Amino acid sequence: MIITKEQFKKDFEKKMLKLYAQEVENATIQMQYFTLGYLIKEYISEGWAKTTTRYTKYGEKQVYYFSIEFLLGRLLASNLLNLGIRNTVKEALNEMGLNLKSIEDVEVDPGLGNGGLGRLAACFMDSMASSGIPGNGNGIRYKYGLFQQKIVDGYQVELPENWLRDDNVWEIRKSDKAVKVRFYGDAWMKPTDDGKLIPVHTDYQEVLAVPYDTALVGYENKTVNTLRLWNAEVPNYADEPRGELNFHKVLLNKREIESISEVLYPDDSNHEGRVLRLKQEYFFVSAGLQSIVTQHKEAGRPLSELHNFVAVHINDTHPAVAIPELMRILMDEEGMEWNEAWHVTQNTMSYTNHTIMSEALEKWPVELFKDLLPRIYLIIEEIDRRFREILTAKFGEQQDQVEKMAIISGGFVKMAHLCIHGTHSINGVAKLHTELLKSQELKDFYMLYPYKFNNKTNGITHRRWLMLANPELSTLLDDTIGTSWRRNPQDLKLFKKYKRDPEAQRKVEIIKQHNKEKLAEYIKEKNDIIIDPNSIFDVHVKRLHAYKRQLLNALHILHQYHEILENPNYDMVPKTYIFAAKAAPGYYYAKEVIKFINALAQQINNDPRVKGLIKVVFLENYGVTLAEKIIPASEVSEQISTTTKEASGTSNMKFMMNGAITLATLDGANVEILEEVGDPNIVIFGMTEKEILSYYRNGGYRSREIYESDIRVKRVLDSLVNGHIKGIPVEGVDIFKSLIDYNDEFFVLKDFDSYVDAQKKIDSLYQDRFTWNKMSIENISSSGVFSADVTVMQYASGIWDTRIIER
Ligand SMILES: *Cc1c(COP(=O)(O)O)cnc(C)c1O
Repeated sequence: MIITKEQFKKDFEKKMLKLYAQEVENATIQMQYFTLGYLIKEYISEGWAKTTTRYTKYGEKQVYYFSIEFLLGRLLASNLLNLGIRNTVKEALNEMGLNLKSIEDVEVDPGLGNGGLGRLAACFMDSMASSGIPGNGNGIRYKYGLFQQKIVDGYQVELPENWLRDDNVWEIRKSDKAVKVRFYGDAWMKPTDDGKLIPVHTDYQEVLAVPYDTALVGYENKTVNTLRLWNAEVPNYADEPRGELNFHKVLLNKREIESISEVLYPDDSNHEGRVLRLKQEYFFVSAGLQSIVTQHKEAGRPLSELHNFVAVHINDTHPAVAIPELMRILMDEEGMEWNEAWHVTQNTMSYTNHTIMSEALEKWPVELFKDLLPRIYLIIEEIDRRFREILTAKFGEQQDQVEKMAIISGGFVKMAHLCIHGTHSINGVAKLHTELLKSQELKDFYMLYPYKFNNKTNGITHRRWLMLANPELSTLLDDTIGTSWRRNPQDLKLFKKYKRDPEAQRKVEIIKQHNKEKLAEYIKEKNDIIIDPNSIFDVHVKRLHAYKRQLLNALHILHQYHEILENPNYDMVPKTYIFAAKAAPGYYYAKEVIKFINALAQQINNDPRVKGLIKVVFLENYGVTLAEKIIPASEVSEQISTTTKEASGTSNMKFMMNGAITLATLDGANVEILEEVGDPNIVIFGMTEKEILSYYRNGGYRSREIYESDIRVKRVLDSLVNGHIKGIPVEGVDIFKSLIDYNDEFFVLKDFDSYVDAQKKIDSLYQDRFTWNKMSIENISSSGVFSADVTVMQYASGIWDTRIIER
């Protein structure tokens, strides 16, 4: 949009008066934020309404991205950026004596996601709107987001994240679009007089799902898409035609009902929470599908053609009940026959797999499922019965094969199997991941449905992770290669020819230095630790999980500590190790690793013998806002998961785009990062996929042998248990045991040696400023293919078959 500073000032003053009866000069920073937020929402509203009308009027095929998490990050800055008015607003506010940055800092970061999966959904939303793809998000409006993390005495402490305490300026409650979702009760097939069977569902509990819509503004285009998040409420029983008034019952149920949209489950890989979690899944899926079908009918289109107008994407298996739920709506409510309903459903739905870790593959006990969703269970039974026919036709007498692939088997409903059979597309999230799905985890299904499998490597929005997070680098890029990269991120490759240019190199280095100084100030303020902005900033930020191997990093730090203590002339480039990570509250081991890292930090930072050489910092409460501060200041990007365990990773892409050098195993999208930047511009170490798979298949790993033969490893592990590292009497022993007694499930010790070498290589590369800066520029300029704009275009053409309306 176009607006002058004068007009904006008038609008702002008027809005402030209207909201608070206050002159701008007397307004608190809170008032400034809400005034600006509501004003920007008004600016968005016309384009939003027009986009919505356009989609329905012209019958554009729309994508509905179903995800149990959307980790959006703050919206004020990104909305201003995408509207194309951020500079105007900033200057106008300045002239009024106000500061945009401070105002932006008032916004709470809505933490409606755990990590990568939720953040991917958010990046896709931004990229769909910016690429002119008619795309909607569908999810849950959790009252409490992921817990706030405090570190007390080195331990993680969890506090509730009440992000809705103040107004959320971005959402609009749409009471008129509320729908009802049914749980529990009895469901059966009742014979009719003419010999048919009709479904009956009685004695159910009804929950009102009320949508809250948030605008998703496209970057300098006319598209404003919608994120619809559902809130669980008690229905107004007075409206019930059957007049089943039982207020007592209603009040008793109130708490139970509202708990459905109360909390986000703080675990991104193991499923937990049992009944409530399945309730959440069905709740937002049923509500979303009901509203999609209603809209489709209102537009006067036949349901037999739903898949020509609607694509529903299932982000991991959490929304898998979308498959039987759409069947239910089409058959029970719209009278469609099974075969046609199945055709429509399969062609509407597509599914992304996010993990190969079998403990994270969702499955539900039949009894639990049947009790909560009796009608849906009947439909799944029929889907399973028919699927077993297909399997039996293919595998004949091999009943074990049929049993293995069935949807209901061994007393469980297997959600991934349901997704594979019930959709037309299954994609992995990085080349290696997709290959592993096809050759290992889902091999049987790949043989059955080879045409359904495809790869879509994850991406990130360069608008948030470069333009907003790193304004100085963005300006340098504009000045050097022009501004086309902002619209077409692949144009970042134009920067490649400056990799040897001393001027460009110097500027890239100065910008990194500025960002490091800013982060150092933040760390001083938050942790009261003084770090040296001239040391290497080596950064490991992501969820705390054993497979992500923060422990490997920490053990290496401990190793370096020993080296310095033993040899005061030890040669190393001063380094600051920065960690940030939340552990799932019930994930005891992950919390012990957090305590270990903090104990290590405490000891090293206060030991005069290593002063000026190593500092260790653990920043609390990792989230999108913190990531935006850390990543632009990073020089080494730690992506050191056990090979084959990280499906893709996306922070690896964010770091690269900001000029950090990736220190990585050949896992997930690190493989593609290597392909893009080339071998000299990344530091790779560790076991290969083949070696790992061979160990998994044939066994033969003995971690104790490494402990006994490598004196460095012995020294490090012994100091976990002999009191050398203070404050971890329990944690040290548990970690030691996991590595030795339980044979080091994630091959930490196996990769230790090559990690030490890789770290040394980083040091020597860093000392050669020309080489390092060149590598940094190579990384920035190769990062464009990892823009989610590229990814969503591939989804649009390869999976959803949606038209791109305009850019
Ligand atoms: C990008 C991002 C992630 C994903 O990080 P990985 O290192 O890819 O696991 C998690 N949390 C936040 C807040 C992020 O921004």
